[in-house]
Amino acid sequence: MRIEPGKCLLMLAVFIRHSLQGMGTAMENLSQQEKIQLKKILLARDQTLREEIRREINLQNEYAEVASDVPDSGDLAFANLSIDIGNAAVVRDAHELRAISYALKRLEGESYGECISCGYDIPFKRLMAIPTAERCAPCQKNVESAHHQDGARGMST
Ligand SMILES: [Zn+2]
Repeated sequence: MRIEPGKCLLMLAVFIRHSLQGMGTAMENLSQQEKIQLKKILLARDQTLREEIRREINLQNEYAEVASDVPDSGDLAFANLSIDIGNAAVVRDAHELRAISYALKRLEGESYGECISCGYDIPFKRLMAIPTAERCAPCQKNVESAHHQDGARGMST
């Protein structure tokens, strides 16, 4: 009987994959295909945010012109308010953009899809919904409720 070299290689690859999977929880939460899918979502979102920021800045320049052209206090207040709101949107977008670049960096390495709080794998479904997620749902909830309590305490004092 002759063993074809191609088939032999394939069997070896399958064997290696299986033995790697058996090595514990730290190994490959996501398949290569899932990673590619998530990367696409992240890159698309990255693009959208960049466009949004560009548009927001253009808009602010227009408001800034209004503010300098019209001395009327009402219009000036409106223009200033619009600039502030615009900044908030830009700041929010910039935050998300940074989260995306972190996620992409983690995706290049091995740490993507691992909860930074408990170290367990974040389910693929959750990553599809929130590709920048750094925590699993229970840990995220803990963090958020801790923040919430801080806020409530701050209000009462
Ligand atoms: Zn967790």
